[in-house]
Amino acid sequence: MADFIDDEHMRDTVLACADLAGRAGARHFQIGYLHDDVPVAEAGWYAHAQYRGARVQVDNQPGPAEAAEALARRLLTGAQCRCGRLVALSTAGAVAFDGVTLADGSRWSTADARRAGQCLWRRVGARWEPSCPVPSDRPTRRERRRRG
Ligand SMILES: [Zn+2]
Repeated sequence: MADFIDDEHMRDTVLACADLAGRAGARHFQIGYLHDDVPVAEAGWYAHAQYRGARVQVDNQPGPAEAAEALARRLLTGAQCRCGRLVALSTAGAVAFDGVTLADGSRWSTADARRAGQCLWRRVGARWEPSCPVPSDRPTRRERRRRG
């Protein structure tokens, strides 16, 4: 079963999901399977991320890459990007935001989502990346240096 880590696509997908979960503040991230001695596709793959007071989980996936991809999409759906817009996973942006509760407990209505706009995210290798530019002024580092 350890063979799967040699598969580059699978490894990237799992690493990208773990990275994403960590950036979203997860305390615990796990991918696993329920059944031994069965074909990989029937092992019952799951992935979950544990947050303060919330647990995000996907079940019954055909493999670790699928479990990681499904969990990442679940985590990104309804999430807010660094640019202030909502994360979109396709150019269609056809995500239902009606009464979505985010991982941090805040709620978004469809009207909130429309007002905020959407930022397209995609997986690039072992990381999920937003389409907005990296903030160039690095306010946190500068503010830390500025004392008094
Ligand atoms: Zn963005």
